[in-house]
Amino acid sequence: MSRRYLMVGAGFSGAVIGRILAEAGHDVTVIDSRPHVAGNCHTARDPETGVMVHVYGPHIFHTDDAEVWDFVNAHARFMPYRNRVKTIAKGQVFSLPVNLHTINQFFGTTMGPAEARAFIESKADSSITDPQNFEEQALRFLGRELYEAFFKGYTQKQWGRDPRELPAAILKRLPVRFNYDDNYFSHRLQGIPAEGYTALVEAILDHPRIRLELNRAFDRSQRSDFDHVFYSGPLDGWFDYDLGRLGYRTLDFETFRYQGDYQGCAVMNYGEASVPWTRITEHKHFAPWESHAGSVLYREVSRACEAGDTPYYPIRLVDEQRLLQDYVRRAEAETGVTFVGRLGTYRYLDMDVTIREALDTGRMAVRLAAEGGRMPSFARAVL
Ligand code: UDP
Repeated sequence: MSRRYLMVGAGFSGAVIGRILAEAGHDVTVIDSRPHVAGNCHTARDPETGVMVHVYGPHIFHTDDAEVWDFVNAHARFMPYRNRVKTIAKGQVFSLPVNLHTINQFFGTTMGPAEARAFIESKADSSITDPQNFEEQALRFLGRELYEAFFKGYTQKQWGRDPRELPAAILKRLPVRFNYDDNYFSHRLQGIPAEGYTALVEAILDHPRIRLELNRAFDRSQRSDFDHVFYSGPLDGWFDYDLGRLGYRTLDFETFRYQGDYQGCAVMNYGEASVPWTRITEHKHFAPWESHAGSVLYREVSRACEAGDTPYYPIRLVDEQRLLQDYVRRAEAETGVTFVGRLGTYRYLDMDVTIREALDTGRMAVRLAAEGGRMPSFARAVL
């Protein structure tokens, strides 16, 4: 029997789950309080220069998940893109992630891979056997000099905390390479949709059983019109923040324009604490298949997220963990709602992981509907 579903949020989670349910013959309404789909992946052309702008900061699609890759490619034409990030520190430009070029330039050497590996091992603090935080992870695998030049200041700016308070997992996102591979990501599949992420999400939502309402905030009274709600808004927002707010970092983007090519690459990081921004992104370089005379750039500054700001990065430190547990327990007691996505489950999720989870969640919902069962509050463990 066909059911009626409400998706709160038209980002990847809501769009993908909605699509799977619609294809299975259910009726889906997707609402979003913003005037566009795609959440923080939203892209829009700058009217002045024609450049495709990643409105809420840069998004590069990368994955090892072939099914997720096929799914996004079925809804948009992807162009090959390799993210090659540079960083400025000590008055020089270096290549990231830390690779043989970075190491040789930094130490003024001409080492080969094996030599560099042994050299970095000699710099690393081998007394740290089980790194407990970001700083220990960096000292164990990079040594103090590289850590202080590229990671210490940047991380303080990005997270607003001492790296000793941050989990080692944040640094584990970045590889250290003893060859000249400067691809920022290690995933096999990487690209950017030719017409941006908003067109991709619009295509996912383009189904006769999906009704989309933009500029529409969620209110509880809507629940009675639906058999089930998938909620991709902030978990604490569902409870009107009544236990307090889960900590997030937000980003301020200072937009500026330039005639020509400002920095010659898409992402230039600034490793030092003395520069207020973490990075400058030059949007036209995310679409190297296009050509534009003008350029649009963002200077990115990270700060604590307050009421009314756009949440970006869940912090998940000790205090937030405690509050998170309380909210999760309450969410588990709710019926008729499943919390999904980065904000709904308060996790630092990449786009491909979000889509993988949404595909699984959508299928679980289809199966449970067929069996007459009920979706749980969380489709997977979130703590
Ligand atoms: N990081 C850093 N220096 C850099 C780039 C990254 O210290 O030049 C640290 C920082 O703490 C960041 C983490 O590594 O949060 C993960 O970096 P990633 O590029 O994955 O962050 P994202 O693109 O998600 O902001």
